[in-house]
Amino acid sequence: MEKLLCGVDLGGTKLSVGLVYPDGRILDKIIVYDHILKDEVAIVNYITELVRRVISANNLSESDLEGIGLGFPGHVRYKDGFAITTSNLKGFKNFPLRDSLSSNFSVPVRLDNDANAQAFCEFKFGAGRGYDDLIFLTISTGIGAGIVLNRKIYRGMTGTAGEFGHTIVDPNSDFVCTCGNRGCLMGCACGLTLPARFRKKIEKGLKTTLPVGNNFDFSQVDGKMIKQGLDRDDPVSKAIVTECADYIGIGIYNIFQVFNPPVIILGGGLMNLGEFYFNRIKSKFYELARDMIFDSIEIVKSEAEADAGLIGAAALLLE
Ligand SMILES: [Zn+2]
Repeated sequence: MEKLLCGVDLGGTKLSVGLVYPDGRILDKIIVYDHILKDEVAIVNYITELVRRVISANNLSESDLEGIGLGFPGHVRYKDGFAITTSNLKGFKNFPLRDSLSSNFSVPVRLDNDANAQAFCEFKFGAGRGYDDLIFLTISTGIGAGIVLNRKIYRGMTGTAGEFGHTIVDPNSDFVCTCGNRGCLMGCACGLTLPARFRKKIEKGLKTTLPVGNNFDFSQVDGKMIKQGLDRDDPVSKAIVTECADYIGIGIYNIFQVFNPPVIILGGGLMNLGEFYFNRIKSKFYELARDMIFDSIEIVKSEAEADAGLIGAAALLLE
């Protein structure tokens, strides 16, 4: 029997551990949400317990595994297997995550940034199949990205390459990113900016057709609400989506100029905003790239679903 891959997707709200076939199908998985208040050591022990649980639930043993791939929601020092920092979990400041987990198992453990893992998942099993190079961007609460070049993840010197979310697209922007800089792509266009964008439009006197009362708590504004607005032709929602899409269009235009990739794959929760959003991103990109495109470039939606993080983490073992 071909060996199974074990994937661990360690997120800021969800921790999933699963067994994945080498073709990307999931055999079994366990999802928990009660890891977030634990410290680093307790999380490593929890992951260990969950891996052992999913192995024994399927009457397997560790020797049936090719290894364990772990996707981490923050910066990773790849060669050393360190978690450098994350804004999604407590602690994990220069923590030897790979070796801590690996000391509990006899099979190899691979650790990488979760967006890198998802990019590789698209390359192996998703919208990037058949390409040697691709750029993947995930647009949700934040913006993450991964670069696959010559069929391998490009990580740079430390392992933090591909942080397109922190490239600056508008230095005069009112929006300050979580990193502290003004006008990062993430600071301008991720889900976190939606409440402030909505409030500004209302304060300027724009009328929304969404049910928003006098004491409306703008922090409730999220992608789902803006999508409802789009569906009912709400001018405020349309204006916000147009602004955000234009920034993503600028971002992928910059990516195009740097990498000249054959395909750019867009994923993440905000892609649920639908065709209005996606089309606006593409039209901004083509407006900027104009006659500088010499071979056609594909800008496509991610094929990955809810388990992309898990499958991607497992796929790290196939690199
Ligand atoms: Zn930033």
